[in-house]
Amino acid sequence: TKLRVGLLFGGRSGEHEVSINSARAIAKALSAEQNTSKYEILPFYIQKDGRWLAGEAPQKVLETGVPLLESQESTSEGLTSNPQTQTLSQWQSPSQVAQVDVWFPILHGPNGEDGTIQGLLTLMQVPFVGSGVLGSAMGMDKIAMKMAFEQAGLPQVKYKAITRAQVWSNPCVFPKLCDEIEATLGYPAFVKPANLGSSVGIAKVRSRPELEAALDNAASYDRRLVVEAGVVAREVECAVLGNDQPQASVVGEITYDSDFYDYETKYTEGRADLLIPAPIPDAIARQIQDMALQAFAAVDAAGLARVDFFYVEATQEVLINEINTLPGFTATSMYPQLWAHSGVSFPELVDRLIQLAVERYSPS
Ligand code: ATP
Ligand code: MG
Ligand code: MG
Ligand code: MG
Repeated sequence: TKLRVGLLFGGRSGEHEVSINSARAIAKALSAEQNTSKYEILPFYIQKDGRWLAGEAPQKVLETGVPLLESQESTSEGLTSNPQTQTLSQWQSPSQVAQVDVWFPILHGPNGEDGTIQGLLTLMQVPFVGSGVLGSAMGMDKIAMKMAFEQAGLPQVKYKAITRAQVWSNPCVFPKLCDEIEATLGYPAFVKPANLGSSVGIAKVRSRPELEAALDNAASYDRRLVVEAGVVAREVECAVLGNDQPQASVVGEITYDSDFYDYETKYTEGRADLLIPAPIPDAIARQIQDMALQAFAAVDAAGLARVDFFYVEATQEVLINEINTLPGFTATSMYPQLWAHSGVSFPELVDRLIQLAVERYSPS
């Protein structure tokens, strides 16, 4: 009998559309010749307002690629109108949810990548693709992630962790905070919300007024913020696949013309190029692969992750930037492309991830 895969996509984050595209690519891979006899797809779509839909509506989103926003009343298929107040018993009653043998959450950003959905799926007692609660939460929060990397001895840029309260609540603290950032990190610096992705809320700042504005803006996205010293470096990424004996892919490089790899550059067709394999020395590539595996273990990731690095060519130095536990998974995304160049095709990759989820749930 076929394994029923609950493909969970959409979500309330700013990366809703990316999630739809990732889910479409995964659905296509599950319907590919080598997988169609093994798996049946049960799609679940989380609308931008947080409402869950099962059945035909998500199927339509997968077919068209167009986000759907149904009104509260109009559908009988909606599972919940407010996931925040939903109880577990209500979750288990809809027949579509009960039918799932293994979940494939392909949600990016907050409430998707950060351990919240993973906690829910853990409580449901059904295997799911990717990291568990701890790995997801550690991989999402840039401050927690940096602390884990530091502990593992992985080199990274100088940074300072900040809270929203320091930026907003105390007019005496704020100038001192800015002084300290200027003294320890200098310019240019990068101001980031700690728990986002796709460069949302991130600013490169070169002066005090820019720093102040960026901190204020980042604080509107997250309680936790991080400021980093800016480096001049090439950007390279490595994909990891596996559970307790994970493997690292070939290394890829991203090149672009803009000031940094911001949201627009990431998602505007033709603005960035992926070079796979990255044109870097073999020894550097091996070092990056090794560091990617260490980072994967440091945050307790599972299944998959994309680890991003800065390669400072002038000094041959490699600094870890971050880990992403649910990286973009569209047909042209870096993660599947890195595996394709490492001998694992897209349909095979999806198959391996589901098998890893099942293995992790019930280790033999
Ligand atoms: P993703 O979409 O990969 O999850 P993200 O939102 O988590 O991204 P980062 O990867 O932390 O954001 O930063 C986004 C981009 O900003 C980087 O790819 C890089 O171009 C630039 N950047 C971030 N931090 C630095 C830094 N310290 N020095 C130089 N450039 C940086
Ligand atoms: Mg990220
Ligand atoms: Mg991300
Ligand atoms: Mg990144």
